[in-house]
Amino acid sequence: MTGGVIDSADRPWLDSSLPVPERVELLLARMTLQEKVGQTHQVANIHPHDDADQLASGAIGSSLFASGATGGNERDEGVLAANIDAAQRHAVEASRLGIPVLFGRDVIHGHRTVGPIPLGLAASFDESLVEQLAAVAASEAVVDGVAWTFAPMVDLSEEPRWGRVAESLGETPVLSGRLAAAMVRGFQGTGVTGADVSDRDRIAACAKHFAGYGLSAGGRDYDTVSVGENTLRNLHLRPFRTAVDAGVCTVMAAFNDVDGTPMHAHRHLLRDVLKGEWGFDGVVVADWNGIGQLVHQGVAADLRDAARLAIEAGVDLDMCSGSYAAHLADLVESGEVDVELVDDAVRRLLTLKLRLGLFETPYVGDPGRTNAPTAATRAVARRAAHGAHVLVSNNGVLPLTAEVGTVHLSGPFAEAGEELLGTWTLDGRGEDVVSPATAFGERLGDRLVVSDGRFSDRAVQQVRNAEVTVAVVGEHPWRSGEANSVTDIGLPAGQLDHLRQLARLGKPLVVVVYTGRPLDLGDVLDLADAVLVVWHPGVEAGPALADIVFGDVGPHGRLPMTFPRTTGHIPTSTHQRPTGRLVELHEEGTQGRYLDDQVYPRLPFGHGLTYTTFDYGELRTTGSLELGRDGSLDVEVDVTNTGPRAGREVVQLSFRDPVAQVTRPLTELVDWVALDLGPGEQGTATFTVRADQFAYYGADNVLRVDPGEIRLTAGPDALHGSSLSITITPTTTTNP
Ligand code: BGC
Repeated sequence: MTGGVIDSADRPWLDSSLPVPERVELLLARMTLQEKVGQTHQVANIHPHDDADQLASGAIGSSLFASGATGGNERDEGVLAANIDAAQRHAVEASRLGIPVLFGRDVIHGHRTVGPIPLGLAASFDESLVEQLAAVAASEAVVDGVAWTFAPMVDLSEEPRWGRVAESLGETPVLSGRLAAAMVRGFQGTGVTGADVSDRDRIAACAKHFAGYGLSAGGRDYDTVSVGENTLRNLHLRPFRTAVDAGVCTVMAAFNDVDGTPMHAHRHLLRDVLKGEWGFDGVVVADWNGIGQLVHQGVAADLRDAARLAIEAGVDLDMCSGSYAAHLADLVESGEVDVELVDDAVRRLLTLKLRLGLFETPYVGDPGRTNAPTAATRAVARRAAHGAHVLVSNNGVLPLTAEVGTVHLSGPFAEAGEELLGTWTLDGRGEDVVSPATAFGERLGDRLVVSDGRFSDRAVQQVRNAEVTVAVVGEHPWRSGEANSVTDIGLPAGQLDHLRQLARLGKPLVVVVYTGRPLDLGDVLDLADAVLVVWHPGVEAGPALADIVFGDVGPHGRLPMTFPRTTGHIPTSTHQRPTGRLVELHEEGTQGRYLDDQVYPRLPFGHGLTYTTFDYGELRTTGSLELGRDGSLDVEVDVTNTGPRAGREVVQLSFRDPVAQVTRPLTELVDWVALDLGPGEQGTATFTVRADQFAYYGADNVLRVDPGEIRLTAGPDALHGSSLSITITPTTTTNP
């Protein structure tokens, strides 16, 4: 079908001195329809031997995961790379055109050096740290032959029952978008987006899942989504736009429908908005069998119909449904699909492969290179884990002093390893994790008593003999992540009883919560003297916890999602819009309340304590209160450390647009500044604001900036702080 292998002298696209678009056209012009379709076909678990013929015929363009066909366990050092190289050799050396296969893998929050789950990373509010961890992950993943990761996930997460909030960067467009952009920079560097030849230690990123997946009904994974385009544009599409502007190479379509149209068939959002309006020139990849699911979703009669809908909608690469491979050529030959649509998809895919440098360096390279965690990569993971520690309550019991007496450590995660890596850690290893018990033991020696949490006379005596008791509770990672939704966001069965038993013994009780989602912490907050929400922190879980608990590092993480009061309180988020009866959120407020509870969240977005206290001055402007549409103005607030210890305060600037064409959120994060202040020290958080930060999509879904009032609030979380109103002027004059 495809003829013999073309001599390399007859492969002008290999000339790396030519611009990428020219190389793409040179190659495309020589491709048969079948070879083009091959590029749009992604398979799972490629098998270098079983798939040899397919690879040699150019029928496989991409693969995710690689099975252990060359012998040995995929997780053993070098095996994954050997599989990938063996498969690649067939594509590059035995196929007519020698186009390399693109190997993808879910490298979500670390490859071998696993850091906190993305929701924990988001708690750090630290773009530089997020970028560094992604760069470490990329450099480790390339050693295993991975050229592309399916991260970051930027679905806004307002629904704690949904297990995938663990993979998200939180609930607000600005935090989620900026951290996603940082991740894209970390994974991709500039080589993939800018230059023709890649940096060998970088991989392509993927913003997923486009779009609205975070709104799955009832928090049930893969469920339907009912949302209007205005809310999508004003909230859920925004972090994707930021990732696209940051140069993300690929975007993944979401499993869900949006108001009845499944995303894999959503021509308007994929073609008109993403590729058209935003000018995204990268690859849109399907989610796993997402094209095949169009049949189940009831919009396609069969797989052939599904393939037609998806290519028309703008899905360039079919992940694992086989629909493009089976039907695309026929659809083109019968005139049902314009070959231009296939060419467009193939151009995008070839461009990505060329930008990644796959034609120049298709193989892993140095088979002896190891990617096991090193002291340097662990240092990044440890700092990232520090950022994930959110101190949500503390009556002064923390930090413990180095001279503390016996510490009683209990709960299901005291000696945990792999469980602390969290969801989506394909290549992380339990033996690389340092547990809380190990890290505490290194500090305390025989002043540490570790108990399995079963209450016997001995355990009761151990607690009685201790000066303080630390309970590490929460969710197993299998209770969050993909397909792991829950109907109850309380602590898993038995854990609250464990805490009650400990509390009854009267010793100071510190509760550490490992979790992939916001939990109902009402009873925990009542029982404990201090509560640390730590998410799943990765390989440095134990040392990072010990650093924080013993005060070597002050806690500085902030909640990237609102914590509801109870499961029945869901949904709740900072983006709640005002109603005719609810115009502000007050603690103890009665407006819009339930009969049996109030609407104020248990813990607001952005909440997080430190080991010191901070006083906020009045928010002020340094000049005019008027903001021209093309101008900027500075607002600032003085923050004083009034406590006895150094600390980091994450000063958050939120805004509210009180009168707009559509109802705007009660509050929305617009920017933040982290201040490191010593005892008694005063610092100033300065924010430069521009009118476009307050732009929104009006009733006609066109982006607009209205003249008029914008209320700004600077404070320690989304619902507290000092406010100031500025005015956007109708003119285009630039403010001084
Ligand atoms: C998930 C994606 C993931 C893909 C490949 C799907 O089930 O929704 O997020 O990237 O599998 O592993």
